[in-house]
Amino acid sequence: MKAYRSILFVIVIVIGGVAFFLGVASKDRRRAQQAQQLLTHNNSVINALDTVQILITSKESAVRGYTITGDYIFISHLPRYNKIIAASIDSVRSLVASNIDQIQRLHTITRLINEKDAFQQEIVQARKVSIDSAMHLTASLRGKKLMDQISSSLATMKAAQELLLEDSIIRFRESSRQALRTSIIGAIAVLVFIGILLYRLSRDIQLRRKAEEELMQSEAKYREFVENADVITYTADIQGNFTFISKQVETLTGYLPEELLGKHFSVLIPPDHIPKVAAAYYEQFQARIRETTLTFPIIYKNNGIRWVEQNAILLERDGRAVGFQCVVKDVTEQELVRQKLEKIEAEQKEYQYRIQAILDNAPLMIYVKDLEGRYLVANRQCREVFGLADEDIIGKTVYQVQSNRQSAERYDTADKEVLQNRKSVELEDVLQLADGEHHMLTIKFPLYDKDNNLIGLSGFMKDITESVKARQEMIAARQKAESAETLQEQFLANMSHEIRTPMNGILGMTNLLMQTPLREQQREYVHIIKQSSDNLLVLINDILDLSKIKAGKISIEKIPFDLKEVLQTINATFRMKAAEKQLTFSTLLHPGVPIYLLGDPHRLSQILNNLLSNAIKFTEQGYVSLEINVRERQDKAAIINFQVSDSGIGIDSKQLDLIFESFSQASSDTTRRFGGTGLGLAITKRLAELQKGSIDVASKPGAGTTFTILLPFAISTKEEVARGNTQAIPQRSELDNYSGHHVLIVEDNDVNQRVLKYNLEQYHIDTTVVENGRDAVRWLEKNKTDLVMMDLHMPVMDGFQATDYIRRQLKLNVPIVVLTASVLRNERSRCLQIGANDYVAKPFAPEELRRCLDRFLLRKDANAPQTFMKSPVADNPVFDISMLMQLNNDKAIREIHTVFENTVPAGLDELKQLAIKEDWKGVVELAHKLKSSLGIIQVKDLHEIMTTIETSARNQQGLKEIVPMINECIAAYYHVAPMIKMEIDRALI
Ligand code: ADP
Repeated sequence: MKAYRSILFVIVIVIGGVAFFLGVASKDRRRAQQAQQLLTHNNSVINALDTVQILITSKESAVRGYTITGDYIFISHLPRYNKIIAASIDSVRSLVASNIDQIQRLHTITRLINEKDAFQQEIVQARKVSIDSAMHLTASLRGKKLMDQISSSLATMKAAQELLLEDSIIRFRESSRQALRTSIIGAIAVLVFIGILLYRLSRDIQLRRKAEEELMQSEAKYREFVENADVITYTADIQGNFTFISKQVETLTGYLPEELLGKHFSVLIPPDHIPKVAAAYYEQFQARIRETTLTFPIIYKNNGIRWVEQNAILLERDGRAVGFQCVVKDVTEQELVRQKLEKIEAEQKEYQYRIQAILDNAPLMIYVKDLEGRYLVANRQCREVFGLADEDIIGKTVYQVQSNRQSAERYDTADKEVLQNRKSVELEDVLQLADGEHHMLTIKFPLYDKDNNLIGLSGFMKDITESVKARQEMIAARQKAESAETLQEQFLANMSHEIRTPMNGILGMTNLLMQTPLREQQREYVHIIKQSSDNLLVLINDILDLSKIKAGKISIEKIPFDLKEVLQTINATFRMKAAEKQLTFSTLLHPGVPIYLLGDPHRLSQILNNLLSNAIKFTEQGYVSLEINVRERQDKAAIINFQVSDSGIGIDSKQLDLIFESFSQASSDTTRRFGGTGLGLAITKRLAELQKGSIDVASKPGAGTTFTILLPFAISTKEEVARGNTQAIPQRSELDNYSGHHVLIVEDNDVNQRVLKYNLEQYHIDTTVVENGRDAVRWLEKNKTDLVMMDLHMPVMDGFQATDYIRRQLKLNVPIVVLTASVLRNERSRCLQIGANDYVAKPFAPEELRRCLDRFLLRKDANAPQTFMKSPVADNPVFDISMLMQLNNDKAIREIHTVFENTVPAGLDELKQLAIKEDWKGVVELAHKLKSSLGIIQVKDLHEIMTTIETSARNQQGLKEIVPMINECIAAYYHVAPMIKMEIDRALI
């Protein structure tokens, strides 16, 4: 149809075009004809004018002939000439009728011709009279004049006509050319039209062919579909009863058409679907819907269900619905597939819902991202914590979700790391949320599909603000506890020092006094003073011991010793004490007990002393005994059993468990009756436990008590014991050997200065006394001595600092013996560490002092290593101010030193606070700053530790070590500060 229309269109256009050009051409031809006519016309006019001229001239000749000859022959034709002239004039007139100019001219010519004719008639008449009169008339020139006028008028007219002729020739030529142009344009236009139309035609043909092909294809498809679909058609009346059914119904329902005709359609539908189907068609009928499609199940005759798709067209007649025309198609397979898919989809949805529920209820923020870092899933926690809706997250990247650029970058970097290394990554960050800062711990890990292809990553995120806070609080609390402990320790050290210092004075002076000649009564008094002081010292030692044990500050030594030696001392003491109370005292050392042991003889003595003291104290009559046996014996070790028994008052069984508690006594009147503090057994038990031993008690009130101690010892040898035993007490005869030696006493307490000084002078030793560490250093810079006896706790510069200074700055190896009133063992070991050679506890027994003098003045233990000489610390100065000194400007040096003293301790304190708060960025910055301060006044250890702190904090490694390291720095600073000050003072004098 479309193609025909095109052809029609082409034909119409072509005909139109041709008609138009024919029109144009005929117009051109007419114009050419006109031009032609004009040409002919003009020619006729010119010819006619020529004829008039010729006739006029001929007539003139005839008149002249007659005039001359008088022969009538000449004039016989004159009327004919006139007639022809008149005819010619008429014809000219008719030809130029439309040309007013020419008509006027013609008029003039006619007038002149008539005038000429009249004159010629006059001549003819005159001739008839006489030749002369005729000749006279001829000679009058009137004739000639008229003749010239006629000729010139005719010439004018002819010229005008010739002009017209020329014009008509041009016009003719023009119109011919126009006609040619028109035909060429026309031809081109027609060609173009035809071209376009041919193109359209061919395209239409192509399209039509394609459409036809498609149609053919779809027709084929349709045919195939119809053939395969088992389409059946039927009609039903408006009640739904079948009125016609096509044959194929059998394949679909199992019924023959005739079995169904007249039946209601519902017989074929499962009962539970009837209402729905009926309602649908009732609706179609009510609403007059022309066509509907509905899918529903039908019953197959031999049971079973088929699914059909029914296309129902409402049949109408005279504007009334009369029934349905239906096309039914079996869609059982599609329907089953669809139902299956639907089920799978529902299951999938359910599954997804469950996963989402799990994710949403997990106490973590959980999300999944694709490889480009876009969120695919985010659980409820995520949305709630960040205050975002699902659409604000899903499909977005972290940069769009997290407003803090730095945090976003950190997370993005972690993502990339996870994807690149295919390993999980953990990171902690502080995020600014609506309600403040939150610490977030995130664990990210890669996600794979079932073929093990990386598809993205997932993250678990937990708000650890609370635990971080708790951790920080814990560290702060620990710090507090630690500093409290340090304070307590410090307090103990001070206490110990404060109490022992006067005790030292009392005991020292008592000892000196006892060596002077005394009257009997005086001797007794002095003895009582000594005993009381000794008791007081025991009490102090007990209290301090217990505190130390509780603080875990006591350490057990492992030195070789001779058990018999320990027993000898104990024997000597308690035999006397027992004798005072008239008690039997016995010690029994069983033969199998190893004598040379490796352990702490002092602590063993302490334990036995405590138990035996109690036994004697609580026994009025009978005996006190010490029995030593082996419980277990191996090659290199043994468990030794010490049993202390008495026949004393015994202990109530109810109290037995309590007596090992501190400050507990068996009965409330014990103190009144026996004295004591209730500390002894508590200490004993702990000492035994510290040595990996145990204590047990068995008692019967009124009958006696037995304490059993089991202690493990490694077994030593006689040689080892001999080598370690440096406690040989010199004989009196060696006294003089000390003379000529010099000792520098560094002690701030006036009494103690004197105790020491008098003691040494007894041995003829020269002494110099200085008040503190600084003075000692100054004295040593200029003088020499054989031994320095150095108190630890002194103002200005204490014993530690002075010792350190002497060793590392002055590089002197003079023997230094520290006198310490402190029982804190770490204080003693610290002394040895920084280069002291020995220590003596204050108050000191005369024997102890003698031991030291022997060791360092008589070099009795030449074998003993000079620890400080080999100590690596000895090579390193504690600090170095040479760089500062290079300034060479006293004022500047002082100023920098002041800045150092002001900023470093404050900076260290701040650093500690930052570390406790876990502000690692702050720690890095401040540590770096402090490092540069420590570069000018170089405190070697401090500088190194600070570097470690800085790198640890930066790399987030070994963070737990940072606070202890800062504590170390603080201690180190306070240790060197007075030394630096002294050095600067000295340098700037
Ligand atoms: P203290 O002797 O200073 O009171 P202890 O801790 O040494 O403190 O002893 C605790 C208590 O145990 C004593 O007060 C005493 O009641 C009881 N006790 C200790 N040893 C004996 C003993 N050998 N016989 C009887 N009672 C004892």
